[in-house]
Amino acid sequence: MYKEQIDAYFERADVRADLIAAVGRLVGVKSVREEPAPGAPFGPGPRAALDEGLKLCTEMGFAAKDYDHYVGLADLNDKETQLHILGHLDVVGEGTGWNTDPYTCVEKDGMLYGRGVSDDKGPVVAALFAMKAIRDLGIPVSKNVRLIMGTDEESGSQDIAYYYAREPYAPMTFTPDADFPVINVEKGHYHPNFGAKWASETVTPRVSAMTGGFRVNVVPPEAEATVLGVAPADLANLCAGVEERSGAKFTVNEIEGGVKVHCLGKNAHAAMPEGGINAIQALLEVLARLPLADCPSTKAVRAMAGLFPFGDLYGRALGIAQSDKSGDLTLNLAIIKLEENGFQALFDSRVPVCANRENCAQVCEAAFEKCGIEIFGGKEMMPAHEVEADSPLVKTLLKCYSDVTGVADPQPIAIGGGTYVHDIPGGVAFGCDFPGFDPKMHSANEQASVENLLKSARIFALAIARLCA
Ligand SMILES: [Zn+2]
Repeated sequence: MYKEQIDAYFERADVRADLIAAVGRLVGVKSVREEPAPGAPFGPGPRAALDEGLKLCTEMGFAAKDYDHYVGLADLNDKETQLHILGHLDVVGEGTGWNTDPYTCVEKDGMLYGRGVSDDKGPVVAALFAMKAIRDLGIPVSKNVRLIMGTDEESGSQDIAYYYAREPYAPMTFTPDADFPVINVEKGHYHPNFGAKWASETVTPRVSAMTGGFRVNVVPPEAEATVLGVAPADLANLCAGVEERSGAKFTVNEIEGGVKVHCLGKNAHAAMPEGGINAIQALLEVLARLPLADCPSTKAVRAMAGLFPFGDLYGRALGIAQSDKSGDLTLNLAIIKLEENGFQALFDSRVPVCANRENCAQVCEAAFEKCGIEIFGGKEMMPAHEVEADSPLVKTLLKCYSDVTGVADPQPIAIGGGTYVHDIPGGVAFGCDFPGFDPKMHSANEQASVENLLKSARIFALAIARLCA
C-alpha cells in the first residue's frame, strides 16, 4: 500500500533537488567535536549543525525542538510516538587526500561528495524527506515518528545518553547510520587491561622494552622491542621465518648493548581482524623464541606469545573461542607496553550473543592467573545487542527493503561493531549503505549516491507508513 505514491513522489525533480540542497546545507557546517562551550556541549561545530538541522525541519513544516543542545527533535505529528529514527549531525574530521572541499557538498555524475554525505547527514535528510512524503501525500498514520538528530555519535554518543536518561524509549527505533538490509545483532565487548609488575633486572639476554598499538579497536600496525645482550645476527633466521608465515616485515638495528627490532604489520578494524597483520603478535613470536635469560620479562613475553599466538584471531589459545548464529568471537591484541618494571596490555574482543562471564571472562582470568598475569581493569563484559529476526520491526523493515529494491528474501545481519542503537532496547540499524557500495566513510572523498539516498527515503517512507499505520 502507498508504494506507488511514494515512488512517484521521489521521482519528482523538485524533490530530488530539494533533497540535494538539504544535504548541502548540513555538509556546509563543519561539525567535528571540540571542547564544550556554553550552549554547546560538544563544541561550536556540532551546535551549529544542530541549529541548521532544526532550521531545515522547521522550514519543512515539522515541529522541531532543540533538546538542551544535545539532540534535535522533529515530530511528524502530535500523536503517540511509535517510532524513533536516530541519525546524527556530527562528523569525524576531514583528514587529508580530498579532491574537493570536504565542507562543500559537490554533486558530480549522480554522486555527492563531502564530509557527512553518507555518515550521517545524507541519511538524516533521507529520513526527513520520508516524513515529508508521508505528510505531503496525506498517507494516514495513527502514530508519531520522531526524528532524533544527535550531535555526538562519533565521540561516544553522550548526546543520546543524555536524551534517553530523561525521555522514554519508543516502542520501535531504527538508526539509518549503518547498512541495509537490517543489522539486528551487534556483538558484545570484552576488553580487559592486564599485565604484571616486577623489580627491574640486569641479566641478559632480556627484552627490556616493548611497545605496540595505539587504539583498542585497531589491529596494531607497528610494534617495537629492545633486546639486550643479543646481536642482529641472532634474530635473522627467526625474523625471516615469522615474516614468511605472517606477512609482517622486521627491521633489526644494533644499539648499545643489544638490538632494536621493529615490526611492521597492517592495521584493520578490530571487528574484522582478518584484514590486518597484528604487529604485536608477530613480534612476540620472534621474541619468545630467542634464547633469553630466565627472568620476569622473559616469562611475560613467552606467556603472551603462548596466549596470543600470531594468527589466532578467535581467542583459541586463551580458551574463549566460541560462536553462534551471531558469529565468531574475535580477538585483537591491541596494545602492549613493556618496561623495566613490568608490562601492560589490552585486547579487544567482540563476543557473540552466547558469551557470558562463565565461558569468557572467567576463562580468561584463569588462563592469566596461571601465567602470573593480573587484570587491572575492564573486567566487565558489555553484553551483545540482539533484536529477534522474527520481531515485527525487523520483519517489516526487511519487507520494505525488499519491496523497494526488489531483493528477494533479504536476511538480517550481525556485526562485530556497535551502532548508535547498541544500548537502545529493541533498536536496529537500517541503512543507508547498500551492499556493494563503498561510501568511504571517515575517509577522504566520502560519497553518497543520490539514487541511493532517494531509494533510502522511499524505503523509510514505506516503513513509516507500515509501522505507524
Ligand atoms: Zn555515523
